[in-house]
Amino acid sequence: MKIFPFFVFFFSLLVLNGCGDKFQPNKEIKTDCTLGSEPVRKVLFVGIDGVRTDALLAANTPFIDSLLPHSYYNWNTDRGEYTVSVPGWSTILHGVWPAKHGLFDNTFKTNQYSTYKDIFSLAKQIKPTLSVANLSNWDDFLRITENENYAQRFDSDMDLKNDAIRIINSCTPDIMVLHFDNPDAFGHDSGFSPTNQPYLDAITLSDTYLAEIMGVVKQREAAFNEQWLVVISTDHGGEGTGHGNQYDLPQTRYVWSILHRPDLATSTELAIVNSVDLLPTMLNWLNIPVQSSWNLDGVALF
Ligand SMILES: [Zn+2]
Repeated sequence: MKIFPFFVFFFSLLVLNGCGDKFQPNKEIKTDCTLGSEPVRKVLFVGIDGVRTDALLAANTPFIDSLLPHSYYNWNTDRGEYTVSVPGWSTILHGVWPAKHGLFDNTFKTNQYSTYKDIFSLAKQIKPTLSVANLSNWDDFLRITENENYAQRFDSDMDLKNDAIRIINSCTPDIMVLHFDNPDAFGHDSGFSPTNQPYLDAITLSDTYLAEIMGVVKQREAAFNEQWLVVISTDHGGEGTGHGNQYDLPQTRYVWSILHRPDLATSTELAIVNSVDLLPTMLNWLNIPVQSSWNLDGVALF
């Protein structure tokens, strides 16, 4: 009779494997570095997971500080309810609130992505030859978009940063999405707080990676007359060592957005920004008109 529990165990494993999400759990990795087709205007979106606004302002971030005099910014960006990562990044990268994209927790089971498409899919409807890339060190992040030419996951933010630099220099995609995860990990480990030094140090490290990436972008702008819109934001803040189900806490729900334009000589605080506004703003930069049939929830900020 001793064999019975083992049989149940293995049978359970088989059942669990067979009943996976219809939405593929392991996204195919795409390694084609397709040459970008836009000669001048490019978009770089940098998402830094789990960075509270007051912690960003408290952390030592010399590079972000240097961007602000040439940026639009907002320190009170509404990222909406359901304060975990999959709903948050879906809101940004699909340009609609959870009521439309259908995601309220960190699973993908109820996604309405086929109706409310991601930034890459929308952009390619208008400009099919665009080259688009998504780089993250969190597997699930890659499931939020599709139609990438290049999609890669990494074991660390440093590996991601190094590959982003390689990709910018080699094929120069028209839209690049980067997702850094390090600050969120430190927040969960020791606290999402503007007085928690390890959390602040993780934000500082993200700032140095951003500086290295932007160094390459600036070189290209000088050498090839490219113009990169660089949008930096986060998916949620946090309190204590968590952020789930905290949509009534301003330090978790209200985040920050920085939009750096190479042609901007001044620093401009935007009065109201919602996370859903970032997608139409990025498409607008690429001269992609937002279609009313997309039923987006945000507006282009400029
Ligand atoms: Zn997150």
